Amino acid sequence: MVVQKFGGTSVADPAAIQRLIEIVGAARARDRRPPAVVVSAMSGVTDMLLAAATGAAAGHVQEALAGVTQIRARHLEAAQALAPGEAPLLDAIADQCDQLVSIVQALAVLRDVSPRTLDAVAAIGELLSSRVVAAALTHAGVAAEWIDARSAIVTDATHTCAVPRMAETRAALQRSVVPALDRGRVPVIGGFVGATADGHTTTLGRGGSDYSGALVGAGIGAREIQIWTDVDGMLTADPRVVTGTRVVPVLSFAEAAELAYFGAKVLHPSTILPAVEEGIPVRILNSHKPDGEGTRITADGTADGTPVTALACKRDLTVIDVTSSRMLMAYGFLRQVFEVFERHRTAVDVVTTSEVSVSVTVDDRRQLASIISALGALGTVAVEHDMALLCAVGDRLPREPGTSARVVAILEEVPLRMISQAASRRNITVILRQDDLPRAMGRLHEELFG
Ligand code: ADP
Ligand code: ASP
Ligand code: MG
Repeated sequence: MVVQKFGGTSVADPAAIQRLIEIVGAARARDRRPPAVVVSAMSGVTDMLLAAATGAAAGHVQEALAGVTQIRARHLEAAQALAPGEAPLLDAIADQCDQLVSIVQALAVLRDVSPRTLDAVAAIGELLSSRVVAAALTHAGVAAEWIDARSAIVTDATHTCAVPRMAETRAALQRSVVPALDRGRVPVIGGFVGATADGHTTTLGRGGSDYSGALVGAGIGAREIQIWTDVDGMLTADPRVVTGTRVVPVLSFAEAAELAYFGAKVLHPSTILPAVEEGIPVRILNSHKPDGEGTRITADGTADGTPVTALACKRDLTVIDVTSSRMLMAYGFLRQVFEVFERHRTAVDVVTTSEVSVSVTVDDRRQLASIISALGALGTVAVEHDMALLCAVGDRLPREPGTSARVVAILEEVPLRMISQAASRRNITVILRQDDLPRAMGRLHEELFG
C-alpha cells in the first residue's frame, strides 16, 4: 500500500479536494489495500491560526476573532460542497471553531501565549481539513475514516518543533490506522500534528505534514510515500527565484536530504529520515497533473546525469565572524565557540575557519544578542544580516573534481562571503548577500542546466 500526503494547496478548496478524491480513488481501485491519506491544513490556515493566537495575546482580539470566523466559513463551505447534509461533520467543525474562540478569548485576557497553547491552536488547521477530506471521500464513494493525529503520532514535549518517538508512534499507528486499513477504509490523518504520551497536542514544525506522511509510511511499512504538491516534483532550482527550471526525475535519499535542508521547501528536511530507515521510496507529484512521473527519491539515486543534480537556496541568514589571535596554534578554541551556540540552542548551518577566525551562519536569530555577547569574551565579533546560502547538490560531484572550480568561476562577479565543500563532497555551498541571490542562482542554473 501507499501513503499519500497532500499539501495545503492540494486541499485548498472544493476543487482541489475533488482532485484529491480522484487521486485517492485511483489508488484505492489499483491496490489491494487502501492508501493511507495524510493532509495539511487548507493553504493559509496555519498562518491565520498562528496570527490569531499571537494577535489575541497582543490584545488584538477583534482581528483574531475575525480570523476564526473566516476559518469557520471556509471549512463549512467546503463541507457543504463536498459532503452536503453531513451533520456530524458540520457539528465537528462548529465544536472545533467554538473551542478556538474560547482559546482566543482566554489569550486576550492572559495577554500571553505559551508554546503549548500555540500548538493547540496551530493543530486545528489539520484537525479540520482531515475531517472535511475524510467525509468528502466517503461521500464520493471512497469509504474513509477520520483518524485523530493525536492518537497516531507520539512525540516528545518540545512544543512547536516536537520530535516523534518512533517506537511509540509505530504502536499507536497499529491501534489507529491499521484497523481502518483492515476494514478496507481509507484512513485520513491530519499531518503536522501529534501528542505527547500524556496527551498534550504538539506540532512537528512548519511544513511538518511531509514528515507525518513519512512517519505513517515507515510505521505501517508502506511500499511508497507520495508527496502531492503544486509543482511537478523536485525542480533543478527554486522556481520562485529562477525561471526555466526542470524536474529532477530521480534523486538519492542523501541528495534529497541536503536539498531539503538547504531550502528546497517542497520537502520537509526530516521527511527523508523515516524513509531511509525503512528503505521506502518517496515520490513528489503534482496534484494538478496526476499522470506526471514526478520525482522519485530512492536509496541509490541514479548513476547518470549532470554532476550537479539541483540547486537550493535559503534566505535570511546571519553570518557571525569571531576573530582572535588566541586561536593561532591553540586547541580548544572552536569548542568554546560552538559551546556558545549549544548553550543557546541555536543551530549553525555553514562553518568556515582560517587560522585566526571562524565564520558561521545561523537562521534562528532569537538568541542572537546573547550569543554575540558571549562570543565577545572569545574574540572580536562581526555580524552581517540579510545573507543567503546557495548550494549545488549532486552525488556525482566527487567524481567530477572540476565542478567546484566551475561553480566558483561562474559566480566570479558575485562577492562570495564564504565557500564550503562538505566531507560528503555532495554539495558546494556559498554564502552571499541576499540581494545577489537571484542573479547568482540564475547564472548558475543557466550554466549548469541551461
Ligand atoms: P505543500 O503545501 O504542498 O507542502 P510547499 O509550499 O510546502 O507545498 O512546497 C512546494 C513549493 O516549494 C513549490 O510551490 C515551490 O515554490 C517551492 N520550492 C522551492 N524549491 C523547490 C524545488 N527545488 N523544487 C520544487 N519546489 C520548490
Ligand atoms: N500546515 C502546516 C504548515 O503550514 C504544516 C504543513 O502544511 O506541512 O506549516
Ligand atoms: Mg510543504
